[in-house]
Amino acid sequence: MPTPLPQHTGITKASTMPTRFFTTNGKFYRGNLHTHSTRSDGVLDPKEVCRRYQAEGYDFISLTDHFVGLFDYPITDTLDCNNTQFTTIPGAELHTGTMENGHIWHLVAVGLPTSFPAPDAPHFRPVKGSETGADIARRARDAGAFVSIAHPHWSGMTESDARTITAAHAVEIYNHGCVVDNDRGEGFVTLEHLLNEGRRLNLTATDDAHFNTPDHFGGWVMVKAQQNTTQALLGALKAGEYYCSTGPQINDIQIFRDTVVVDCSAAATIIVQGQGTSMATLHGESMTTGTLSRDRLATSQWLRVTVVDRAGKRAWSNPVWLADTGDTP
Ligand SMILES: [Zn+2]
Ligand SMILES: [Zn+2]
Repeated sequence: MPTPLPQHTGITKASTMPTRFFTTNGKFYRGNLHTHSTRSDGVLDPKEVCRRYQAEGYDFISLTDHFVGLFDYPITDTLDCNNTQFTTIPGAELHTGTMENGHIWHLVAVGLPTSFPAPDAPHFRPVKGSETGADIARRARDAGAFVSIAHPHWSGMTESDARTITAAHAVEIYNHGCVVDNDRGEGFVTLEHLLNEGRRLNLTATDDAHFNTPDHFGGWVMVKAQQNTTQALLGALKAGEYYCSTGPQINDIQIFRDTVVVDCSAAATIIVQGQGTSMATLHGESMTTGTLSRDRLATSQWLRVTVVDRAGKRAWSNPVWLADTGDTP
């Protein structure tokens, strides 16, 4: 960490900085929030899915099999896969209702009780009059789940579709399976349109692994928690105390009145994005810290950070709302 440059004025009190979790006590735990097994249309049984993720160095996963009648509405029991180094969080990919294009909703709920009542979703075709996507998202959140809008691009979701899911904590902005299998794996446009309307949404990067293609170990979350337990991980996810990655690490983000300072693993590009077209970019070779000017971001209500390494792998912070740092533009 270099000595701060003179323009680092107006630092927000550490106690109120939304990015303080990067440097507080605890540890970053690597996890995949979207996975399938033979309990729905994945090709590996739940134990083998968990074994492979732990062997790959993950600290936790949620098995989110498709919650439809065809598979007997599974909330897959993975308790046997928990051990001192590895945690599983019960979850499901929820399907019900209809989007504007006539297709059924896909919503990922991590941290669902096994008693979660099923919607009227016998298969992947929408049933007339069934529960809406918005309603099941609300039920899942009320039941304690961390809820995300899955693969908006692959779904063909419109902005008005996405706007209805008011209970979502996050938008899945990177779905590795969709990237690999259909090149429709990103959700940044959906996320940013909602952010620009003032919706406080975080983002997720996931695998959506079925293990029938190279759809695994590509996108993950790094969650800062005191312990590798279901409760601690879920609490940190809901609090936004995590970042997403396909490779690089983000070590710290400090927001000053005129600059944003990013500490990270070796990066070729560091970007700060804000509302509309606002952004700041640094290019280099193997930067481990970068100081970016807020000049062009002066009127944005939120900022987020992207780190790109020389292989093109990326990491993304959650949006920081400047109202929370005490220096709203
Ligand atoms: Zn899906
Ligand atoms: Zn899925």
